[in-house]
Amino acid sequence: NGVYDGEWVAGKASTVQSIDPATGRVIAEVTTGSVQDLERCLSAGVAAYQEWKKLPAPFRGEIVRQIGDELRKFREPLGKLVALEMGKILPEGVGEVQEFVDICDYAVGLSRMVGGAVFPSERPQHTILEKWNPLGLVGVISAFNFPCAVFGWNAAIALTIGNTVLWKGAPSTSLVSVATTKIVADVIKRNNLPPVVTLCQGGDDIGKQMVKDERVKLMSFTGSTAVGRTVGVEMQRRFGRCLLELGGNNALIINEDAPQEMALDAAFFGCIGTAGQRCTTTRRLIIHEKLYDGFIQKLVKRYTNLMQRVGHPLDQATLYGPVHNQQAVENYKQTIQEAVALGGKIECGGKIINRPGFFVEPTIISNLPHDAPVVKRETFAPIVYVFRAKNLTEAISWNNEVDQGLSSALFTNNIQSAFQWIGENGSDCGIVNINTSPSGAEIGGAFGGEKHTGGGRESGSDAWKQYARRSTIT
Ligand code: NAD
Repeated sequence: NGVYDGEWVAGKASTVQSIDPATGRVIAEVTTGSVQDLERCLSAGVAAYQEWKKLPAPFRGEIVRQIGDELRKFREPLGKLVALEMGKILPEGVGEVQEFVDICDYAVGLSRMVGGAVFPSERPQHTILEKWNPLGLVGVISAFNFPCAVFGWNAAIALTIGNTVLWKGAPSTSLVSVATTKIVADVIKRNNLPPVVTLCQGGDDIGKQMVKDERVKLMSFTGSTAVGRTVGVEMQRRFGRCLLELGGNNALIINEDAPQEMALDAAFFGCIGTAGQRCTTTRRLIIHEKLYDGFIQKLVKRYTNLMQRVGHPLDQATLYGPVHNQQAVENYKQTIQEAVALGGKIECGGKIINRPGFFVEPTIISNLPHDAPVVKRETFAPIVYVFRAKNLTEAISWNNEVDQGLSSALFTNNIQSAFQWIGENGSDCGIVNINTSPSGAEIGGAFGGEKHTGGGRESGSDAWKQYARRSTIT
């Protein structure tokens, strides 16, 4: 049953098949919600908000603490399910659940710390205060590649602030949506609370309806830039609030003075992790011309060795698993054809791996102009483009010339270069790393990107403010 409105019900729309990307086999079928099912979830979420918002924030934090503890109990099996259904390797699947646990801990702290401000008034005997209040029902629509953590990042903070949450996960990861919601819903029931979290699995029809509905006060959308653009326009049309976490096209720059072994590890992990299906995956390597040849040689060697570690994500020895579905294989094929037609040279990879499931070779492509259309687009597959730069200023300008602005990294041991990189003449991305991979993120900082990545921020720092409305009080 893919719908939870306080009770688990069979969605009335249709069923969606859950497929193991490493074998292509159907592992389950999940019923998805109809518009009527969604309506029940919306009403339940709005009604639950009336009670939930009245509870003291530290009490809400206590419920989130219990959710974190419950997730700790199910860390391994839920992590396995993430690996099985999404196709990422087991440590990454378990790591995703751990991120949800971590954000729960963070939110518990927040529940006793969210503060306002007091400002001087220009009038005598007046005081200006700022207080943060909840918004109401928060909608979360998530992508297939982080089927558990993205919901967790949103839900832990949104609930602590006093909102209720309605979730729609990607249709192809419906089992993870159901399993994660069950863990959360059990805690809520045990505490005799109304359904402060509801779930309506479905496709773009349910997504569109959630975006349109005025009762959804904030729409937190994680997915492609193309869909995010329609979500953003619709939310603006109805003056709803929107948190967009969209596509990336992340570069890693290796400067003349880079710590080279460290850069090699970071580039390798950043390119091939999650088989190139992270929003923060390294998609462009910009290497100083003096280091270029040696670096590419070493990276190709790593890629070649990796082929010994291709396998099922649940197998302990596997370091590189499948892409998520046949569509991803097609996108990979088309992009490689386009790159080659534009004069790209395949340094390694480039082919589909002959085994069941959706496996493709991790691929390095050189010889393309830094601003070729194929380079400027996000292809959600393990393909990286490599470029030879004359100096850091040129490398930074290439880093910034794409539409997306999610993550970036510079490898350097030069303090002047480091400060150039983090300042106004540096990277224009939301995540600006030095001597560590652009791939992945910690929950402590605000996560998100600029430009066509949507501008949203989730997780740490003051990202909680996105889930609250500001009251200025005199
Ligand atoms: P997608 O845009 O195809 O789908 C994302 C979600 O939107 C799914 O749940 C889908 O059912 C739903 N949806 C589809 N059409 C909709 C519509 N018209 N209205 C409302 N909802 C709709 O993305 P995907 O292929 O699942 O995920 C990959 C993309 O997500 C990549 O571009 C990746 O970079 C991005 N992503 C970004 C972040 C981030 O934090 N910036 C994190 C993960 C993934």
